[in-house]
Amino acid sequence: TEIFGERTNSAGLAFGDSVALTDLMRGMDGADLEGLNVASIIGGEDRPGPEERDLLSPNDSQPIAKLSEADERMAREAVDVSARGFREWNETPPEARALALERAADLLEVNRDRLMAILAKEAGKNLEDGIAEIREAVDFCRFYAAEARRLFQPQPLPGPVGEENQLRLEGRGVFAVISPWNFPLAIFLGQTTAALAAGNAVVTKPAEQTPLIAQEAVRILHEAGIPTSACQLLLGDGRVGKAMLDHEKIAGVVFTGSTEVAKLIQRQLAEKPGPILPLIAETGGVNAMVVDATALPEQVTDDVVASAFQSAGQRCSALRVLYVQEDVADTMLKMIIGRTKTMKLGDPALATTDIGPIIDEEARSKLAKYAGSREGLVYKGDAPKEGTFLAPHIFELGDEEILEREQFGPILHVKRFKAGEFDRVLKEVASTGYGLTFGIHTRITEVAQRLAEEAPAGNVYVNRNQIGAIVGSQPFGGMGLSGTGPKAGGPHYLLRFAEERVISTNI
Ligand code: GLU
Repeated sequence: TEIFGERTNSAGLAFGDSVALTDLMRGMDGADLEGLNVASIIGGEDRPGPEERDLLSPNDSQPIAKLSEADERMAREAVDVSARGFREWNETPPEARALALERAADLLEVNRDRLMAILAKEAGKNLEDGIAEIREAVDFCRFYAAEARRLFQPQPLPGPVGEENQLRLEGRGVFAVISPWNFPLAIFLGQTTAALAAGNAVVTKPAEQTPLIAQEAVRILHEAGIPTSACQLLLGDGRVGKAMLDHEKIAGVVFTGSTEVAKLIQRQLAEKPGPILPLIAETGGVNAMVVDATALPEQVTDDVVASAFQSAGQRCSALRVLYVQEDVADTMLKMIIGRTKTMKLGDPALATTDIGPIIDEEARSKLAKYAGSREGLVYKGDAPKEGTFLAPHIFELGDEEILEREQFGPILHVKRFKAGEFDRVLKEVASTGYGLTFGIHTRITEVAQRLAEEAPAGNVYVNRNQIGAIVGSQPFGGMGLSGTGPKAGGPHYLLRFAEERVISTNI
């Protein structure tokens, strides 16, 4: 609990534990979300772009706001403004930066019901996911505030008599923050507050699907005392993102999204004239769980269903391939299907909803095409006709089949293995090149230890589900195709956002 100072969420009482769902739903209903306009924010001003269109909800495909995106000229202007604001923010003492981030955490809590209502409407987050998302956003603000205090004081270093050595960490300049729609508040704010905590100014470009919650988040940061000159919001597609990265004042990029886009960004940065720029990328995963014959079937069932289907499988941590020992495979599969059948798809703002929609029609139809064209279907649920829902699917993979690509939705693959075949399983999992999460279910300690040691993944979970990493307790991030590190919510994250300087004085 010390990680967060006096007030703690994840490491102690979870934010959600004290929330009565009926109060929450009443509060969400009362949030005034009529007539919203979403636009970029540059220098603290709302800045509509050249065109306006409707932002649609994935729940029912109805308009929820008027959205106007930036153009390339505005992207350059946003970087210019942050470049001018950088110095003042970087010279703001770490303590003052930390206090502003902690005020932002408080404001997130105060505005919880409104933020939850937006998360449900814009991103299709059900109540459980919405609560967890706000909690994680709060945690990121407090954690990086504490990290700014811990790391950004000048540190004395040893030296001979008569010499004084000092190590200092400072911001790098303007950080570009490119964030995903699947955690449109938590990851958006996690990346942004990390960059700010380290003394950088930022230009944030949230996913095109979730500008509304990002606008709320940036307003909260400004209200909390982050100077408007240090934090811009830029709405738009890849073209706007590219124009932002092309600006000569960009000093680093933090990105969460696909491996392909991470590589495009890396190439763009490499081809720019000027310094070698850091890229912090958190990308996808083809995550596995291994279940042996000693595992507890009820626990496996709960953990498989949560890992594969919570958030409609739209987490990069989600379980994609379940390896189950053949001796227990039929029983386990029967229980998993039985449990999946009980899951309700529907309006995410209702307490009874387990699975919300897929983020948009483009994503839904890609997943549906994949599911409709592959073999080995063992279960398919039902989905509402309105909105962009996809029913949960379970497939069995063929003996020689390896899932190579991430399917970012509620689609679980199952594969049987024979007793003692752990090496084959580990080799298969490693062969995908990804390495994000890995689940293990066994009651044999030696098996758990061995698999945990050899699992080709950045986050390993034993006898539990493999989603929902907690800031400060489970720093999150993968290896190989899954990302560059360092881990978000971990003790090394801020270092990558910082410049190190050593001053040696002969006294
Ligand atoms: N940190 C999230 C989790 O542990 C996943 C983040 C993501 O999907 O990008 O479930």
